Amino acid sequence: MGRGFNYHCDNCGKDYRVRLGVGMAHPSTCEETLARVKEGKYGQDLKEAAESETYVGVDAALKLYVCDACGHWDVYADASVYGLADKERGPSAMFGTRTIEEWGFIPYTTGWEDEIGFRVIKEFRPPCEKCGREMQAIEADEDSDETPVLKCPNCGSELSTGVMNVLWD
Ligand SMILES: [Zn+2]
Ligand SMILES: [Zn+2]
Repeated sequence: MGRGFNYHCDNCGKDYRVRLGVGMAHPSTCEETLARVKEGKYGQDLKEAAESETYVGVDAALKLYVCDACGHWDVYADASVYGLADKERGPSAMFGTRTIEEWGFIPYTTGWEDEIGFRVIKEFRPPCEKCGREMQAIEADEDSDETPVLKCPNCGSELSTGVMNVLWD
C-alpha cells in the first residue's frame, strides 16, 4: 500500500501530487528495477554492487529525493542494492513460496526485514537534474504523520503541506 501527499503552492497556485511507497505491481517493479541496475542504467557503482554477490535485491519503493544544494525534488523507485545479512543461512530462507536460492535473487526487500535480514551494499543517490549533485532520500514512512517540506518547482516558494494523505493501489 502506497501513500501520497497533495501539495499546493499558495504563491503560484500549482498543485503537486506525490505518491510514495509500494503499489500492487511491486514485485514486478522490483524485478525490472534490479534488471536495470544490472544493465548499468543507474550507474557503474550500483551495477558492481549488484554483481558483487549471488543474491541481491532492491526495495523499489517510490521515495522522495531532495537536493540539499538547490531544493529540487523528485520521486524515484529506490534502486539501492541489498544483500543478505546472513550469507550462510539466508539463501535457504523462505521468501513467499520459494527459498531465496530457488528464486535466484531477492524478489524484494520491503517488509521482509524482520524475517530475513538484509544489509545495504550500495545506496541509490540519484543526481539532481538541476545542479547535478547527489540527492537524498527523505524518509516519509507509513507510521509517520509528518509531511516532508518541499519547495515549489515552479516558483521556489515553500509548498503548503499535509493537505491530505491518499492511499493508492
Ligand atoms: Zn509556486
Ligand atoms: Zn540540485
